[in-house]
Amino acid sequence: MAKPTILIVEDEPAIADAICYALETEGMQTRCLHAGEAAVALLVSGQFALAILDIGLPDVNGIELCKRLRRNCDVPIIFLTARDAEVDRVVGLEVGADDYVTKPFSPRELTARVKAVLRRTQPRQDQAPANSVFTLDADRVQAGFCGQSLELSRYEFLLLQVFLRRPGQVFSREQLMDLVWDAPEASMDRTVDAHIKNLRAKLRAVNADLDPIVTHRGLGYSLKEDV
Ligand code: CA
Repeated sequence: MAKPTILIVEDEPAIADAICYALETEGMQTRCLHAGEAAVALLVSGQFALAILDIGLPDVNGIELCKRLRRNCDVPIIFLTARDAEVDRVVGLEVGADDYVTKPFSPRELTARVKAVLRRTQPRQDQAPANSVFTLDADRVQAGFCGQSLELSRYEFLLLQVFLRRPGQVFSREQLMDLVWDAPEASMDRTVDAHIKNLRAKLRAVNADLDPIVTHRGLGYSLKEDV
């Protein structure tokens, strides 16, 4: 099997070198950029298995870069963030990143995250394209189901977006809190349940038979893979 090639976009040479070394030791190929603008064209070309993006880049903010990429590219992305603020994490994941690490981090920790994301995302390319009964327009915050547009609240929309990125994956309530809510510690499991219930009711109003959200008792929720 070909070695996966990882693009690293990081302006601090010492950090970039440490990441390249750690990934190459694990049998991956790397390419490094010290600024963001050139990354978009490279990533859209489809030759990279994953991208590691620093949020604080000299020419463009990593989050903006990720948003731009997500319009026409599905490459898995791990953010590097220097700020430990919760908002960075939530924003990072909301814009379509797959994971993040907070600086300072050990190259070993980052390598483990890279491997985990690759494991999770690589089989996806072999599967049928995601759920065709749903449509999702992240820029307009609009979702559709079985050809009808849904009137979703912000949280219902974000929940559906999380599910659609990983059909079949079971998310615990805690994970959904982290991925969707701005201030997870202020909420409770029941908040997730309430929003799932509303989302289900809206989907059922469109199509009563499909019921695509599955409850896993004691675990959480997932989206059916085969609807
Ligand atoms: Ca930086």
